Amino acid sequence: MAVRLLVIGSGGREHTLAWKLAQSPHIQQVLVAPGNAGTANCGKISNSEVSVSNHSILAQFCKEHIQAAQLEASKSFSKAFMDRHGIPTANWCSFTDPHEACSYIRTASFPALVVKASGLAAGKGVIVAKDQEEACQAVLDIMKDKTFGSAGETVVVEELLEGEEVSCLCFSDGCSVSPMPPAQDHKRLQDGDLGPNTGGMGAYCPTPQVSQELLQQIRETVLQKTVDGMKEEGTPYVGVLYAGLMLTKQGLKVLEFNCRFGDPECQVLMPLLKSDLYEVLQSTLEGKLASSPPEWHQDRSAVTVVMASPGYPGSYKKGVAITGRYETGVQVFHAGTSLKEGGVVSSGGRVLTVTAVRSSLEMALHAANRGVAAVGFPGAVYRRDIGHRGIAHLTQHRGLTYKD
Ligand code: AMP
Repeated sequence: MAVRLLVIGSGGREHTLAWKLAQSPHIQQVLVAPGNAGTANCGKISNSEVSVSNHSILAQFCKEHIQAAQLEASKSFSKAFMDRHGIPTANWCSFTDPHEACSYIRTASFPALVVKASGLAAGKGVIVAKDQEEACQAVLDIMKDKTFGSAGETVVVEELLEGEEVSCLCFSDGCSVSPMPPAQDHKRLQDGDLGPNTGGMGAYCPTPQVSQELLQQIRETVLQKTVDGMKEEGTPYVGVLYAGLMLTKQGLKVLEFNCRFGDPECQVLMPLLKSDLYEVLQSTLEGKLASSPPEWHQDRSAVTVVMASPGYPGSYKKGVAITGRYETGVQVFHAGTSLKEGGVVSSGGRVLTVTAVRSSLEMALHAANRGVAAVGFPGAVYRRDIGHRGIAHLTQHRGLTYKD
């Protein structure tokens, strides 16, 4: 049976998912709503006019699935959930009263210097404070000045963790999990992890810092435990589960869960997925992941480099024409783009993501950087060092590869 699918969103992640789904022989058409210039009339992919902001079917679907999505939507829920199920995470406490939060910060037995709005705050609701005073100020900003609106009615005050961050995602069919290769996102704007935080300036996969042994540990102590816990609590988790992890000297700890693919992690994960994504999603929905786990390209590395508008993550200019050419051997995924008088123009902060897949991390980085140079648009902002921690790790352990 020929299948038509709807992908909801307009970023690089959604272009990547549509691109991967369109490769499936089962799929006749992939509609993207609202989509971008990259998803407008491209083979099986096209944009749809369907309104995704006020659609009764979507709203009903979300209501029915909201329980499991609490893992992302409420930090106080996810922290308490992790404690209930013995999933490693930073020490924490949650508060609905700002004065109680501040006196806790001043007396906590651990350096409680991370303050988080418990609700959804578009990735901006986390303040890593340099001292107790700054942490208390963050509590007041969130709870009294309501900088994140109702998302800040409850705050989570948390122990500061140190270490390297990695993103470990899996498919879950409600019972079993199938981990994807580990990835790492680069949040800071500039090379060397300097400058302001952004939605992500690039990612690479797999991360050689995460050995097979560590990945197995993550699978058992985080991903499977989470899915078991959700099932036990009567809200089975079916779909893509994203665990943001900190590799600390005291072992791995969960920073956050997301109930979806990450962006830009998706742009490196999908090109490494050997299996048909549609078939994987079918197995996920039908509870068959254990009997037919997805296959990945084990001997390849992927790097994706985000090209952002000048000024991003602050205010930026839109409508800049994208005129460069697409280098062969790289994949250009659109994010903030639209069509204007037949040409492609920028329409968002993160404009394009250029992904290269090669037999080594270094080669993938060079190819992605060449792709970025070819497609350039005036004033484009991008990093040239995506994957630098992975490359440093490989250099330090010369001769070792991900498979070792
Ligand atoms: P979250 O939305 O909870 O993942 O937080 C966003 C970012 O804040 C993470 O990706 C980390 O870089 C940082 N962060 C969150 N919690 C902590 C913590 N306990 N210690 C250090 N950094 C943190």
